[in-house]
Amino acid sequence: MSVADTASRPRLRDSVIVQADGGTLLFLCLAERTVKRFACDEFVKDVVVLLDGTRTIDEIGALACAGAADAGRRVAEVVRILEHERLLSGVAAPEREFRLLGVARAEFYDRQLRLFQDFCDVGWSPETSGAALQRRLGEATAVICGVGGLGGWVALALAGAGVGRIRVCDFDRVEVSNLHRQVLFRMADVGAPKADAAAARLREVNPFIEAEAVELRIGGAADLAGVVKGADIVINAADLPTPNDVAGWVSEACWPDIPHIMGTGYAYHIGVLGTSIIPGRTACWSCVRAETFADHGRDGMETLVGKRDQAGAMGALSGLVGNILAWEAIRILAGLPAALGDRWSEVDFWPLEIHSRAVPQRPGCPTCGARRPGGA
Ligand SMILES: [Zn+2]
Repeated sequence: MSVADTASRPRLRDSVIVQADGGTLLFLCLAERTVKRFACDEFVKDVVVLLDGTRTIDEIGALACAGAADAGRRVAEVVRILEHERLLSGVAAPEREFRLLGVARAEFYDRQLRLFQDFCDVGWSPETSGAALQRRLGEATAVICGVGGLGGWVALALAGAGVGRIRVCDFDRVEVSNLHRQVLFRMADVGAPKADAAAARLREVNPFIEAEAVELRIGGAADLAGVVKGADIVINAADLPTPNDVAGWVSEACWPDIPHIMGTGYAYHIGVLGTSIIPGRTACWSCVRAETFADHGRDGMETLVGKRDQAGAMGALSGLVGNILAWEAIRILAGLPAALGDRWSEVDFWPLEIHSRAVPQRPGCPTCGARRPGGA
């Protein structure tokens, strides 16, 4: 139903502030940091302050233009313009929609639901209610391979956001040298399996989710068949034996059914953001490797001095990378457009700049070149 329908109760988006400058109305859209200006008269000003979702168009007309025969039509015209400019919300009473999730969940996720509502209102989702996006997260299963410096932050963010089932996979045990950056662990966890300690912490963070620990050293794609089964998304944040080796195994295990995000690294002052592999929609891992292989070496090269086991890292920086990967996972699970597919991005923390380059699908790629039926 259109917001401009006279039976509806139009409401301005919560992220929109309205200011009057003489005969001009300024709509400040906080979410997009844009300003929209419209010439107006006193009638329009009166209408705008009544757009709070509690009144029908006829009721607004009666208040703003008492006695005028065409008041409803004039209000509907204002509402139609605001709707066209995406300044109105798709729901008149968001809190009522949120409570459909249950009172406890509505309270727990309140601020996130308001953010999701704005995603819907601005048109990023085909849904009209932010509660629908929350419901999608609650019904989703995420697998995180490796819950160290990157994966721990990913898991924490997904748990807080309400991803319903989170499976964490790691073979390692918590060490003292992990604690400054691996956000899930405390001193009391030292010596415990990381997967167990992580799952326990996630349950504490959000009582509305399930967290499952899988203690596993990944040695090939076959090891992951059971781990990724039933997943809606897999985030690779494991780096042993090498980030690219384990990423290749994760991708092989996920293809062609499960979207996966490659957290291939943070060390020193560079973090890699993604990439996202969405079967049927983006370039595959083989295409990504073909594009980036020359960054790291060529066939026939001999490594004289290799990467050290203990690379420099900091919690603030691993958190930045991990949380960007989590944001990407939330977008995909909520049905919002992914941001990190078909590109290779690295953030340089010193100038605080993100450098991206396109990763095209290779013509005739044996993996992603043959698009699946129904693929976008
Ligand atoms: Zn490909």
